[in-house]
Amino acid sequence: MLSSTEVHEKQNKKESFNAEAASLLVKNLTATFASGKTRSYEWRASQLKALTKLLSDAHEQQIVDALYSDLSKPPLETVAYEIAMLKNSCKGALKELKRWMTSEKVKTSISTFPSTAEIVSEPLGVVLIISAWNYPFLLSLEPIIGAIAAGNAVVLKPSEVAPATSSLLAKLLGEYLDNSCIRVVEGAVDETSALLQQKWDKIFYTGNGRVARIVMAAAAKHLTPVVLELGGKSPAVVDSNIDLKVATRRIIAGKWCCNNGQACISPDYIITTKDYAPKLVDALKTELEKFYGKNPLESKDLSRIVNSNHFGRLTKLLDDEKLSGKIVFGGEKDESKLMISPTILLDVPRNSLMMREEIFGPLLPIITVDKLEESFDVINSGTKPLAAYLFTTNNKLKEQFVMNISAGGLVINDTALHLAINTLPFGGVGESGIGAYHGKFSFDAFSHKKAVLYRSFFGDAAIRYPPYTNTKMRLLKALIGGGLLGIIRALFGLS
Ligand code: NAD
Repeated sequence: MLSSTEVHEKQNKKESFNAEAASLLVKNLTATFASGKTRSYEWRASQLKALTKLLSDAHEQQIVDALYSDLSKPPLETVAYEIAMLKNSCKGALKELKRWMTSEKVKTSISTFPSTAEIVSEPLGVVLIISAWNYPFLLSLEPIIGAIAAGNAVVLKPSEVAPATSSLLAKLLGEYLDNSCIRVVEGAVDETSALLQQKWDKIFYTGNGRVARIVMAAAAKHLTPVVLELGGKSPAVVDSNIDLKVATRRIIAGKWCCNNGQACISPDYIITTKDYAPKLVDALKTELEKFYGKNPLESKDLSRIVNSNHFGRLTKLLDDEKLSGKIVFGGEKDESKLMISPTILLDVPRNSLMMREEIFGPLLPIITVDKLEESFDVINSGTKPLAAYLFTTNNKLKEQFVMNISAGGLVINDTALHLAINTLPFGGVGESGIGAYHGKFSFDAFSHKKAVLYRSFFGDAAIRYPPYTNTKMRLLKALIGGGLLGIIRALFGLS
């Protein structure tokens, strides 16, 4: 197992991957794709089985070690949220693949009678997947499952910010998958820029909105479609009529038990009423102490902050003078270990830096309102989040929340779990992203839905052809009107 520094050194020694190399790579993959190799059910199934093997127990320790090296990610979180979720996705894709690939018969209309029609899912071609560092294994392989299932050739560019995982992905995908169709390019901005200069059939990007704009601009040059899996400020609204202990544990699970808050769907901030806030803070303190002890900086169950840049970014958020006196729990830091303890801040002003950008770390501000209904305006005054959570037993409030809050996904009385449901699309809306994936949605994200209409040589209606007579016009109007009687009348010149 290489350490992060060794991986960096190894990467520095590698020959640079430039636009010329990227162009050659795309050319080779395009030729393989054109040979038809990736289209068969057999090829797709064989690659999904190979991925399942890659995720087997034999490599579990290597994957756990890589994520520990990159993020000090607790092994249980790696096994649960990276390995098990991927195994489940592979299993689901293998089970459903034949059905997904089968064309869908659809109804036709009287205007094409007699005819039949179907929607054929065809692979797009050669696709680029650019992934992020926080769930570096999951976010690389989950889209690959969809791309393979849909029959595409794939280039994966893992995040350089998680170098041990990037290196392991390159090694394992090289060993297990068909390298004539699936390739990994490691690297940072230069390598990604070289890849982005090429013409792809789809680009699937996971990361922040700033780089998403670079990706989309590059894609626009070639009219390449994109999926952008981004983030945002995901709120959790907390009512007072709840099982406080359960709610608190579930908020903690979505925040600190997900990579110490470095997760796109972690609750970014809480909104509750002024009256209820002290109770909620007390409950959060009690449960956090149970989970992470009196000195969370020593806890083995918390990921570290990924690097010093992000540590500095989070420190800056905390040091904002608008937040002086607002910390009600935590706030401890250890720069040498890149650790920040679970931190709760109460009555955080909405014009503070912390409330103006995505936190993506272990800081949890609480905003208070007089009435919980006001939370809707607070949320809707910002950009659309990737997720929004509501804790309540009030059915009317649940209904209003679902109707009025626009977010990538909503969860009532829990956090983050919608990610694990493969029958739900996972993706953002507005600034939190474009497109969605998971389960069949991944297959669809990497397929073109080709419309096919079948006709025979019967039923060649004269109405289509000149000369355009009055009778034809009457018949056309009757056809548009839809009534059988009208059509008969028109045919006999009665209308
Ligand atoms: P990151 O730093 O790993 O960057 C993501 C990818 O962009 C990397 O592969 C990187 O090499 C590439 N990149 C960086 N700068 C580039 C440039 N100038 N040109 C081209 N490519 C470049 O990850 P990040 O952006 O810090 O990730 C965190 C963000 O991602 C958060 O906003 C989070 O909410 C979001 N996110 C979203 C999801 C999701 O599924 N929706 C999942 C994880 C993270």
